Amino acid sequence: MARVYNFSAGPSMLPEEVLRTAAAEMLEYGQTGQSVMEMSHRSKEYQAIIDSAEADLREIMGIPDDYTVLFLQGGASTQFAMVPFNLMNKNGKADYIITGQWAKKAYKEAARYGNARAIASSEDKTFSYIPKITPDMIDPEADYIHICMNNTIYGTKWQTLPDTQGVPLVADISSCILSEPIDVSKFGLLYAGAQKNVAPAGLTIVIVKNDLIGNAQEMTPTMLNYKTHADNGSMFNTPPCYTIYIAGLVFKWIKKLGGLEKMKQINEQKAKLLYDFLDNSKLFRGTVVPEDRSLMNVPFVTGSDELDAKFVTEAKAAGFINIKGHRSVGGMRASIYNAMPVEGVVALVEFMKEFERKNI
Ligand SMILES: *Cc1c(COP(=O)(O)O)cnc(C)c1O
Repeated sequence: MARVYNFSAGPSMLPEEVLRTAAAEMLEYGQTGQSVMEMSHRSKEYQAIIDSAEADLREIMGIPDDYTVLFLQGGASTQFAMVPFNLMNKNGKADYIITGQWAKKAYKEAARYGNARAIASSEDKTFSYIPKITPDMIDPEADYIHICMNNTIYGTKWQTLPDTQGVPLVADISSCILSEPIDVSKFGLLYAGAQKNVAPAGLTIVIVKNDLIGNAQEMTPTMLNYKTHADNGSMFNTPPCYTIYIAGLVFKWIKKLGGLEKMKQINEQKAKLLYDFLDNSKLFRGTVVPEDRSLMNVPFVTGSDELDAKFVTEAKAAGFINIKGHRSVGGMRASIYNAMPVEGVVALVEFMKEFERKNI
């Protein structure tokens, strides 16, 4: 068996240790005589799995007691509708900050259900920076303000949160969840598709302050109402059982590693290796302004489409896969999520050095 270094933006690498545990438990989980895949979600064995997943997530993220954790389906994209359905409920208004394609999709969806306003955008420079937000830009009557915390495609991250003047802050944290500590109490709601940093695809994690639950717009479908899921411990209907189980293993892996402070330290080490190389390279360069760089997604280019394509092909042959940039940006992108080992980034940088030597 030869495992590759997978730099995919998502679905992406999982910790090998987690995969090994899942493999060992594939045919029989504990003494149950069955796989987790086959288990009734109403069984006490499964209840213990989902309960410990939630408890571990609460512990590692430091989620306050007045927040509810939901394990849902539909991906982050379903939250683009679910957030306005549930939160655009007082003045029917919300402010959106457009820092990339996902933020834009969220904004467009919200605009279908209420008065969504795009208050700032970095599209003028291909989303290569995070716009500055001043208090006067924010509508004090907005029901919430939405940001995309880490912009997966463009490789930017909010290093400091906007001052929302007391308006609840909602953040899409799909590609940075669990990458470093986060002060949950600063947010009204956080959401993330699991397939970047948590688990296989199929699970969406929502962390929502309790006082934002229970006032959904009249038209809200039952399945898109947070209250439906909050009242039923994420088991109103069948949850994505197996994906929640894997997420639970990943939470345990992070705990064992030393929690999110340690995770951050490792992620900073990996990102620094790559950014330092890019900043000193004569061939490659990063595409994002240094102060807004992501810890998780690192886009870079050579400046020549031909050389970019050559690099992607040769990298793949050498075991560095999915390093091609998003089709809207071109070039390359290395997604270095939690499960990417430091050795993977070291090996990539060595490979880039060699490529530079041969092609300059
Ligand atoms: C991947 C991604 C999405 C889309 O997630 P789905 O689960 O495929 O709907 C949304 N937002 C961000 C920031 C992402 O990285």
